Amino acid sequence: MITQNIDGLHQRAGSTDVIELHGNAMRAGCLGCGKEWPRAEVQRWMEVDGVEEPTCDACGGPLKPKTISFGQAMPEAETRRAFMEARAADLLIAIGSSLVVFRRRRGSFRRRSRAGRASSSST
Ligand SMILES: [Zn+2]
Repeated sequence: MITQNIDGLHQRAGSTDVIELHGNAMRAGCLGCGKEWPRAEVQRWMEVDGVEEPTCDACGGPLKPKTISFGQAMPEAETRRAFMEARAADLLIAIGSSLVVFRRRRGSFRRRSRAGRASSSST
């Protein structure tokens, strides 16, 4: 399965071999060394522990959701594997994608207000 989804939908549906071309919003990663955390854990650091800008405990690099942002290169390994799998397939079915992505908001992490509404933490 090759997907642009970033929400883990295919994994929740039972797919175990998923190539995520646009990353996964359920994970966060260090831009310096690549170390990863569950996104919920990083959100907890911000919302419960009061961390303004989460950084990596291994190298001090900034953390970002593991999704591909506008202007950011596609993930090399996943893209290479997607091309390899597509070339090797006897049949390829493309479903549910216009292959167009619209810009939604700026910023990498969002804080939730006490009322439960999300707002951008950076601009
Ligand atoms: Zn790091």
